[in-house]
Formats: sequence, structure tokens, C-alpha cells
Amino acid sequence: MSLPDGWEMVIGLEVHTELLTESKLFCGCENRFGEEPNTHVCPVCLGLPGSLPVLNRQAVELAMRIGTALHCTIAPSTFHRKNYFYPDQSKDYQISQYDLPINSGGYLDLPDGTRVGIERAHLEEDTGKTTHLSSGGRLQGAERSLVDYNRCGVPLVEIVSAPDIRTAAQARAYAAELRSVLIATGASDGRLEEGSVRFDANVSVRRPGEPFGTRCEIKNLNSLRSLQRAIDFEALRQIDLIESGGAVRQETRHWDEGLGETSTLRVKEDAEDYRYFRDPDLVDLAPEPAWVDEVRHSLPQMPAQRRAGLRELIANVTPAQLDAIDVAVELSAEHYVHATARAGGDVSIALSRVANEVASAPDSLHRLTVESFVEVTRMEGSGEISATQAKILLAGLLAGEGDDPQELARSKGFERMESGALDELVTTLIETNVDEWTRYRAGDEKLAQFFVGQVMKATRGQANGKAVIAILEARR
Ligand SMILES: [Zn+2]
Repeated sequence: MSLPDGWEMVIGLEVHTELLTESKLFCGCENRFGEEPNTHVCPVCLGLPGSLPVLNRQAVELAMRIGTALHCTIAPSTFHRKNYFYPDQSKDYQISQYDLPINSGGYLDLPDGTRVGIERAHLEEDTGKTTHLSSGGRLQGAERSLVDYNRCGVPLVEIVSAPDIRTAAQARAYAAELRSVLIATGASDGRLEEGSVRFDANVSVRRPGEPFGTRCEIKNLNSLRSLQRAIDFEALRQIDLIESGGAVRQETRHWDEGLGETSTLRVKEDAEDYRYFRDPDLVDLAPEPAWVDEVRHSLPQMPAQRRAGLRELIANVTPAQLDAIDVAVELSAEHYVHATARAGGDVSIALSRVANEVASAPDSLHRLTVESFVEVTRMEGSGEISATQAKILLAGLLAGEGDDPQELARSKGFERMESGALDELVTTLIETNVDEWTRYRAGDEKLAQFFVGQVMKATRGQANGKAVIAILEARR
């Protein structure tokens, strides 16, 4: 979508990610999604009088992993109480990091080369979950509301970007890349549909060169598609408002996926409304430099480096292959491609099979050994089996039909076609398709595919297309 002439968007994202810890941030309750409501609670996460928080070391480590991956400075930090009433926050305040966050001043590079600043990535606790029993799930018109405190006290890292993003598509690219980074650090499972990663978008509009306009915050966007649509809608709403003589009011807005529009949720609070003060029950957090170093050295490669690693394997990467590389990295399946390259196999075939056949069974990767994958691509590359057969073999291996590609090929009747038999078949096809053969000989290259198609039909996909073309060329 493009904006009316003379306008640009200014977008900053706040991304909340739940950390993959065993227990909650300040108590020993299990950190598990999808359990019976109110079964993982205790006096600490319910905020009962007299209970005291104890900081979770694993949460601190995961927060530092995120900060390191985002090139942040890890510094001594403190915990504050953010005071507000909400039914799913029973102690009436949320423990969060305020003026001294654990991570600050980093950046994230997007695949297109844009660098987005990271202002901070701080630790805080999640709230419980309220379910309003109304048609749209909103409080208005609800007869009842239910509260589940299992999520209360689950560790979160909130990652706040600088207002460096200029289009909704770029916001989406940032969110997708950040999600991949969070998964790569091991800090998050990245599951948007379970709320493990949630997006808030700060959107304003201006004429280029002007100071920033008044921003609105759209809360709780839970898919990349919603994020992009909500930002586009909100920017146009603000431009319409300004062009018709109105002014944007700073507020928090709700995105309605069904209606495709944002609406006022509440007029924006300022930081002072929350009466932040240091939590007297928690000491300052100052990780030992040795621990910070250990975290830095234990981080695996980030998605950007992994994509670059795959690109190096291919001489002239096509746009389709760039997409395939994204899919392979997103799937954490690039080891299949690297193993094929090490075995001297066809990297293009391997990449294509990973981005298509392997990607279509993302939960079955454990069934497909690297050896089997390399063997299937070798069989396809050498012409032992056709591309169609290679796809069927991979699907079979991923479905658990067997674990030996050779054996599976035999059981499916994928015997290699004798070259004599293929030669004979092509001869017959030339004799019965004289017109097409004449046009092919006259230089109409498209007819090669016609003959390949005929051969595939006659052999039920068992022939090797490249071998057919070689025969045609030889006879020409
Ligand atoms: Zn608890």
C-alpha cells in the first residue's frame, strides 16, 4: 500500500516475548502454556500479602542472550513497580525494568539491509489472562469475564525499537526477522498463535523533513498480517484526520481483525501515571562480566549469518532461491543443504527440496536423517530417479514410511529406467508425433517439454527428464 503523496509513516515497534524458562520470573511456578486455568499459581505470582519475589537466573540469562543477539550493551539494571489496577494483575502493580534496563542501545539489520535501532530490551513479568464472554471478545457487552493467573509472572522481555521503520511492510519484515532471532537465541519458541510473541505498534505520520507527528499505539497484534494491515489502516486514518483539519490525539488503539480497522481503547497514559518506584523487595541486578562473556560465546549463528552461509554455496542466486534460503533458515533445516554441498551433491536441488518438500512437513524433520536426504538428492542429481520420484521419496521418509531411500525407492517401484528402454520409447513418440518433431527440429525449443511430458505420461513419472532431453538433442 502507498500513502497519499507527500506523507510518510514513522513506526516503532514494541515486541513482548515470553521466555522459555522452566519457572516464572519471581517464583517457582511452572511456566507452561495451555494448562487448566489457575493451576500454576502461588502466593508470589498472585501477589498475596507477605510473599517475596526471588529472581529467576535462567530468565536473566535468556534476556542477556536476546540483548547480545541484538548487539545491545548489557548493563547493571534495576526492577521497578509499575502501578496500575487491572483484574489480571492481582497485586496491582507489574514488576518491570524502568530507567535502567538490562539491555540497551542495539540494532537489528533487516534482510533488505535496513538497520533498525533497538532502544532497549528489558525484563518484566507477564500479566494473567482475561477472557471476556462477548461475541467480539471485548469487555463492552460482555456478560462475564474470566481470569486465568497461570500466565501471571511469566518472564517477558520487551524489545523496544527506535522509530526507524517507515512502511508497514518494513514493520512486518522487522517483526519476522526479530522472531527468527528470538528463536535462534533459544529464548523463545516464537509461537505467535500462542501469544509467545506479541506486537504493539507506535504509528504516526508526517511530511518528510517535519518533526514526528503525534503517535497512536496499536496494542496486541498477534500475527504478522494483522501488524501490517493495522499499521496501514492507522496511517491512512491519521492522514485523513489531519487533511480534514483535525488533529491526532495520543491514545492506545485496538485492532479489529474482522472489521479491518482500529478504534480507541484508552487515552494514552504517560509514564508518570504509573508512579514507578524501585521494588524494595528486589536487589539490583549486576551480572558478573564472566557470565556475560559466557553468554556471548555460547550464542549460535543468527539467521542473517545463516542466510549468508547458504548464499555462498550458490554462484548466481535467483530471486526464487533467495526465497528458498529464507524458508530453509526459518525452518532451521539448512544443515541438509550444507551436508549435500559437503558430499559434492547438487546444492540447487537440495535447496529446492528443503524449501518445498521438507518445508511442507515442518514437524517431521526428526524422521529425515541428513544421510537419507543427501542420498535422495544424489539419486535425483545422477538421474537414478526423476524429480517427481525424489519428491515422493522425501514425502515418504518424512511420513515415516521407511528410513532407507534405496529400499523405499524399490518398494515404490522406482527402478531406474534402462537407457535402452527410454531410447526406444522416445523413438516411438517421435514416429507418432511427426508434426511436433518437425517443429522441434526447426528450432521450437518449447516442443522439448512436450516430448518430456509424453515420456512422463507413458512411464508414470519414472523417467528422467534430463535424459529425455539428451536423447532428443542427440537425434535432432
Ligand atoms: Zn507462582
